[in-house]
Amino acid sequence: MHERLISSGNPPSAKVAPALWFIFAAQKLLVLEEGASVSIPRIVAPASLGISPLRERYLGTLAGLDCYCAAVPEDGPIPPKMGFYGLRYLFGRLAEPLFTIALKAVHLLEWEATTRYCGRCGREMASAKEINARECVGCGMVAFPRISPAVIVLVERDGQVLLARSTRFTADFYSVLAGFVEPGETLEDTVHREIEEEVGIKVKNVRYFSSQAWPFPDSLMIGFTAEYASGEIRIDKTEIVEAGWFDPDKLPTVPGKISIARRLIDWFVETRLPEKAPTAPAAERSYDPGE
Ligand SMILES: [Zn+2]
Repeated sequence: MHERLISSGNPPSAKVAPALWFIFAAQKLLVLEEGASVSIPRIVAPASLGISPLRERYLGTLAGLDCYCAAVPEDGPIPPKMGFYGLRYLFGRLAEPLFTIALKAVHLLEWEATTRYCGRCGREMASAKEINARECVGCGMVAFPRISPAVIVLVERDGQVLLARSTRFTADFYSVLAGFVEPGETLEDTVHREIEEEVGIKVKNVRYFSSQAWPFPDSLMIGFTAEYASGEIRIDKTEIVEAGWFDPDKLPTVPGKISIARRLIDWFVETRLPEKAPTAPAAERSYDPGE
């Protein structure tokens, strides 16, 4: 399946045909387990699995199939041959584009759970018609899904990469620096400010790398590379435990492959040591927004 989801806020008038259902209990996704592979249940409605959703939402179509997401209670039934798994575990196991749709689904469900009441007048919010938004039943204020941009930056100095261990990391690993964009900033402003705040150095030649949706709960990680310009490492101890320059063939433990942080680090190793495949040991779990 190489097609992409065609997003829509306009569901079919009745649920009669089998559809793909992305069903979450907390942030764990219900998948059908068939031997070593996993897939998304293709059903007319969750009731056929004995499941009663707390909330559900139409996502659009994938290859002509309707797609829905739903939230169910954590202590509800688990249908036969199925299980609830975290998305970090399902990365690489659940085929694309299903994994990407699951990321979108968890983002929307979490946003919906935290947008129940209007911030202006306090009345209830309901799904808006035909667009991917919520609308206040009282004053009509429309709220779109919140997306919080954050930059993530690989800084290089004389063939070495700047890696740091954050106070936010729950496991013992190093990563590139990251931080949320503040109101009024360009992405480049955020890159310069974050690097200077966290490790006290100035950078130059900031270049876009790539980006990644990181819906835990609502980040968009925007990756950059930059070159060291001046200063010596002086860490902000509230944010960083340790930071240093590392050779591409002597890296510490780095984040797991699901993350754009790891993509940046792998790119660095592959371009600086083209004869070597990435060999850094990976922490497969414990990657959080902002890393
Ligand atoms: Zn309102």
